[in-house]
Amino acid sequence: MLNKLTKRFVYMPADGSVDRPILGAVIGDDRTLFIDAGNSVRHATVFRNAVRREYPLRPSITALTHWHWDHSFGAACDLNSPLVASVMTHQALQKLVGLDWSDEALDERVRQGTEIEFCADYIKKEYDGVNRDIRVVLPDTTFADTLTLHLGAVSCHIQRIGGVHAEDSCILYVPEERVLFLGDVLGPAIYDGPRYYIARDLLRIVELIKQYHVEWYIESHHMPVNAAEFWRDMNEYCTFAELVMELGDNKPGIERELVNRIGRELVDEDRAVIDQFLLGERHC
Ligand SMILES: [Zn+2]
Repeated sequence: MLNKLTKRFVYMPADGSVDRPILGAVIGDDRTLFIDAGNSVRHATVFRNAVRREYPLRPSITALTHWHWDHSFGAACDLNSPLVASVMTHQALQKLVGLDWSDEALDERVRQGTEIEFCADYIKKEYDGVNRDIRVVLPDTTFADTLTLHLGAVSCHIQRIGGVHAEDSCILYVPEERVLFLGDVLGPAIYDGPRYYIARDLLRIVELIKQYHVEWYIESHHMPVNAAEFWRDMNEYCTFAELVMELGDNKPGIERELVNRIGRELVDEDRAVIDQFLLGERHC
């Protein structure tokens, strides 16, 4: 369950059945940095116990990639160690403090449009049959845009880069291990009706990501991938985005040109992605 990606970076894989994202840990000589708190105390505890068994005697820090429940609700497992997040993440979490997370309250918020069915359903699944006494913990250390944590022989540079998925989204770079933890920064907008991407926003984020020298990329709801694999997929995505910007609301034209540029036939998933980009243009 504890996977070693590099000498000082370990992780627990995502579990889509209950919307658990990857949890990461950077093992310093002096401190352990946990990346994301997970979607529940149960989720966080499984990972943290495994890390502490393997790498004992280090105090820990937790850093959040963004405020979404699946990344933050596990923070209550460790109230004695610092919780680090961007100012924006702090502000977003503040709005959740004191909310009722019962089925009825979740359903009511979905009806009112302040919660989405996707999250409500997975909260019910993760907390099925267990105590749903969810405590939203506010970060005690915040930063505006960047922060570097020194852990002893290894460090972590955090940069908030925002995006349509969540404007507080941060990426975490571990230069000594050449690992870039992307959280959900490449994900679509999910809280605003049908999911969509904004072409120019994706291209902006990709330019920022390119500044880092990376061997392993980690997106929260996927498996870690090496640089070759990551850029093979990402370059295709960027081609989608560029064509949407060049050709506008012209799906047949985009499909034709896409086949030329990426050199393969399109599958249904590709057409769905084009729709998500075109929808994004209407949100701009
Ligand atoms: Zn998210």
